[in-house]
Amino acid sequence: MPTFPFHLRRLSPDRLNKEYDDLPELVATRETGLKRLAEFVDGAGEPYARDRNTDFGDPARNTVSMLSPYIRHRLVSEEEIIAAVLERHSPHAAEKFIQEVYWRTYFKGWLEQRPQVWRDYEKSRDQAFAALETNRGLTKAYGEAVAGSTGIDAFDAFARELVETGYLHNHARMWFASIWIFTLRLPWELGADFFMRHLMDGDPASNTLSWRWVAGLHTRGKNYLATRENIRRYTDGRFDPKGLNEQAPPLDGPEPPKPSKLPEGERPAAIPSVLVIHDDDCLAPPVGDLPSKIVEIIAIDASAGRSRGEKGVHAAAFTRNALADAVALHGAGNTAAVENEIDPVLARIERAGVKQVIALHAPVGPANDVLNRLESELRRLEISLVRAIRTYDRDAWPHATKGFFAMKKAIPDLLALMVERSA
Ligand SMILES: Cc1cc2nc3c(=O)[nH]c(=O)nc-3n(C[C@H](O)[C@H](O)[C@H](O)COP(=O)(O)OP(=O)(O)OC[C@H]3O[C@@H](n4cnc5c(N)ncnc54)[C@H](O)[C@@H]3O)c2cc1C
Repeated sequence: MPTFPFHLRRLSPDRLNKEYDDLPELVATRETGLKRLAEFVDGAGEPYARDRNTDFGDPARNTVSMLSPYIRHRLVSEEEIIAAVLERHSPHAAEKFIQEVYWRTYFKGWLEQRPQVWRDYEKSRDQAFAALETNRGLTKAYGEAVAGSTGIDAFDAFARELVETGYLHNHARMWFASIWIFTLRLPWELGADFFMRHLMDGDPASNTLSWRWVAGLHTRGKNYLATRENIRRYTDGRFDPKGLNEQAPPLDGPEPPKPSKLPEGERPAAIPSVLVIHDDDCLAPPVGDLPSKIVEIIAIDASAGRSRGEKGVHAAAFTRNALADAVALHGAGNTAAVENEIDPVLARIERAGVKQVIALHAPVGPANDVLNRLESELRRLEISLVRAIRTYDRDAWPHATKGFFAMKKAIPDLLALMVERSA
């Protein structure tokens, strides 16, 4: 396995309280994502399959790619990552890694067909925060959990690592969520919110559905229980957590709704247009590939909608820097700032004097909410918002109706489609 030339930037508590403007650059650029991919790709075969579940901790961690912040913002696409991996390994050798990438695709497609699950999460999260105001015991337990002062060594270390670095290994996320729900007996929505505030890759689908999966609400009746022995073993003996509830039953909840129709995407007309980039897809099509003349590029940062609480500095800075990088890449010298309110976006579109705005589809979550609001405002001005869907998503999402198995089965066909398209 290669060791990466870049490690996570761990911020000391006094730095965490500062505005992120004065922090060193948090390398949220496409170039850094591509470098990270190039460094990792050799290890995506057998070493990943063998070692991916072990978390040696920061900065020794080298068993996983740590590409998730780049993929989440699509500074580097799933398709580019899979293509790079398949250039170096056979589909068989890279099977595990490719399957993990498709877990993300599965969660995105599953939530896309059940937007109500995200809405329900938002509602229950807000109710859980309201309960904190009246329940002192809950407030104390929540405060200790997010401060990393519960006395459970692994859990406390992960809470601090999350806040100080903006990243956690997958196994650490599973253990953390499991202890949060079954040992500390805290509402899962508050834990999911803690992740959404601090993870640089905080994502409505992967995060909400993973927390539901740990709780036993996604694969209903089957929860994930963290055990002392498993944590000891897969942290290379760094932790020995005592007092875990290793026997808890799954949480109970209603059946998820039946899948709804997937969006089909639209084709832009060949007329002068504004291109809108958002934090779910910084890889808008190169301006030259669009049928329309792009007169302006506007980037919208919708990350405020990931949580009502204060965002971690890493998460906030990653998104903002990713969007700034996207504008610089696509705009060829366009120096426009990243917007996080609708009104200045509308004003700029009106000033551009166009009848069409083009955006890449934003899946269920805050960026989609912002595009919906923008669309209804634009309609009043008789300007259309055209949302294109990437072929990668359009091909894969229909396989995300039930469990992951159907997606896994479809992977060979999806890879063949990808190869066909790139020929
Ligand atoms: C409770 C919990 C919350 C999570 N929240 C998020 C989140 O907000 N955003 C997010 O991107 N992932 C989330 N994950 C999934 C997973 O933990 C991260 O994607 C992964 O740890 C990212 O690290 P990596 O890039 O080094 O992964 P690698 O192991 O190198 O995998 C490569 C890529 O595959 C995808 N991937 C890997 N494992 C998973 C998985 N289990 N589920 C979905 N996609 C996966 C990611 O895009 C990842 O970058 C969560 C998992 C759990 C258990």
